[in-house]
Amino acid sequence: MTLQDSGNVRVRFAPSPTGYLHIGGARTVLFNWLLARKYGGKLILRIEDTDRTRHVEDSVGQILDDLRWLRLTWDEGPEAGGAFGPYYQSERLDLYNKYLDQLLASGEAYYALETPEELGAMRAAAEKATGGFRYPRPDPLPSIEEGLAVRAEGRAVVVRLKMPAADITVDDEILGQVTVAADQHEDFVIQKGDGFPTYHLACVVDDELMKISHVLRGQEHLMNTPKHIALQRALGFSTPRYAHLPVIFNIDGSKMSKRDKEKAIKKGLPPPEIDVHDFRVAGYLPEAVLNFISLLGWSPGEDREQFDLQEMTTLFSVDRIGKTNAKFDREKLQSFNTDWAARLSEDRLLEAYKEYLSANLDGGEISEWVNGPVTDAVLRLILRACRGFRTFRQVDAKVRFLFTADDDIVYDPKAVKKVLKKNDGAGYAMLEDLLNRFEALTEWTGDVLESLLNRVMTEKETKLGHVAQPIRVAITGATISPSIHESLFLLGPEHSLARIRLCLAKREDES
Ligand code: GLU
Repeated sequence: MTLQDSGNVRVRFAPSPTGYLHIGGARTVLFNWLLARKYGGKLILRIEDTDRTRHVEDSVGQILDDLRWLRLTWDEGPEAGGAFGPYYQSERLDLYNKYLDQLLASGEAYYALETPEELGAMRAAAEKATGGFRYPRPDPLPSIEEGLAVRAEGRAVVVRLKMPAADITVDDEILGQVTVAADQHEDFVIQKGDGFPTYHLACVVDDELMKISHVLRGQEHLMNTPKHIALQRALGFSTPRYAHLPVIFNIDGSKMSKRDKEKAIKKGLPPPEIDVHDFRVAGYLPEAVLNFISLLGWSPGEDREQFDLQEMTTLFSVDRIGKTNAKFDREKLQSFNTDWAARLSEDRLLEAYKEYLSANLDGGEISEWVNGPVTDAVLRLILRACRGFRTFRQVDAKVRFLFTADDDIVYDPKAVKKVLKKNDGAGYAMLEDLLNRFEALTEWTGDVLESLLNRVMTEKETKLGHVAQPIRVAITGATISPSIHESLFLLGPEHSLARIRLCLAKREDES
C-alpha cells in the first residue's frame, strides 16, 4: 500500500454495541490504530447503534473500557469529541434521512411495500423453485407517494437501493480485485421498517462525512463492500481504500466465535476466552494480548515475534497482512504472556496486577490479607515471589492462602495422604521437627528461613521436597505455592506457626 501519496490517513473502528469487544474486533482496532500512528493520521471511534434489536445495555462502556485497557487510544469519538461528530449513529438520524431522501428523489432508491409475510412467502416459493432467493425489483416501481401513503397506514415499509446492472469490483489492498457479477446483485434494504437506516446506509454516509480514507475491517464484511460501493456511487461519494482482514480460526480449524463459549459449557468444559474482557479477567497482560493479536494475519517478516506498540508501529504495513485464515494458538498466547510478565518493569507489572484485581472485583479493591491492609508493597512481594508465572490468575491461585484465615484453610485430602501420612506419617514427623526449629527463630526473613531449610536438608540427607511439601500442605492446605521460604516469609511467623500447629492437631483428631 503506498500511503505516502494518499493524503490524510483517517481510519475508523466502528463497533456495534452488541456486547463485549470480541478479540477479532480488538485486532481490527489495533490494525487501524497502527495505520493511523504510522502515518500521522487519525483513528475515529464510531458507535454503530442503529440496530435497536441487537443493542446491549452498557456495552459501549465495556468496549471503551477494554480499549483503554489495551491502551488503544482514539483521536475522535465518544469522550474524545472531534469536528465530525456526533459519533453515535443514533444521534445522526437526520443526516441519514437527508441522503435517503436524495436517493428516493433521484430514483436511485425506492419504497418496497411487501409486508414481512408477503416477503416470506416470496422467499419460500423461490427457494422451492430454484433453491435461492433474490428480491425481484417491482415493475413498475412504487412511487414515493404510494410509499408514503402505505407507511401512513402504519405498515412497516422499507427502502431499497437500486443496484446497477453492472459488475462491481472491490480493489482490496489485501485480497486484490474481488468482483461481484451484475446478476448476483440484489436491491438491498437501506432503511428498515422501523424508520432506522440499515448498517449499510449509515456506514457509507459516515465514512464519507467523517472523511475516512481507509477501511480496514474483517473479511466477514467483504460481501458488504460491493453494496457500499454502489451506495457511494449513487450518492456521489468517494470510495475509501478497503482492506479486509483474514478470518480468525481456532487451532482445531473451526471459526472462532462467541458461540464457542456456549458449546464448551454444554460439554461441561470451562468456556474459552473470546472477548477482550475474558482475557482481562483471566489475568493476561494487555502487552501480551496486543502482541499476540498483531500476528493474527500480519507478520513483520523477521524472526522476531515479540514487540510493543511502538515497535509494532514502526514495523506495521498493510502489505504484510496475509490473505489466509489466521490461527488462534492459545498456547502461544500463554507463552507470550509469561515472557511479557518477565520483561515488564516491576512498576508496570504492579499496575497491571491491580487492573486485573479490579476487573475481577468489578472495580472494587482487594483490601485485606492475613497480615493487614493490602499495600503496593505487599503486592510487589507477591509478584516477586510468583515470578515466572503464566497469568495473574495463576498468581492468585498460588497466594490464595495469604488471603484465607487460619481456620478456613481447607486441607486437600489427597495432599495430606501423599505428603503427610505416607511412610508412617513421615511428613507429620518432619513438621514436628520444623515447628520446634521455627519456634526458636528470632528473625523471620526469607534468607533466614532458606538457610534453616537448607540446614535441615543437609542434616537429614533428604531432598527439598521432603522438607518443603509438609510445610506447604500445613500452611496452604495444598501442594502449590511460591517457593517455601518465600511462602513462610509472606505468611509471617504468627500464622505460619498457628497453621502448622493446627495441622498437627488435626492429625491427633483423626487418629
Ligand atoms: N458495526 C460493524 C461491526 O461491528 C462495523 C463494520 C465496518 O467496519 O464497517 O461489525
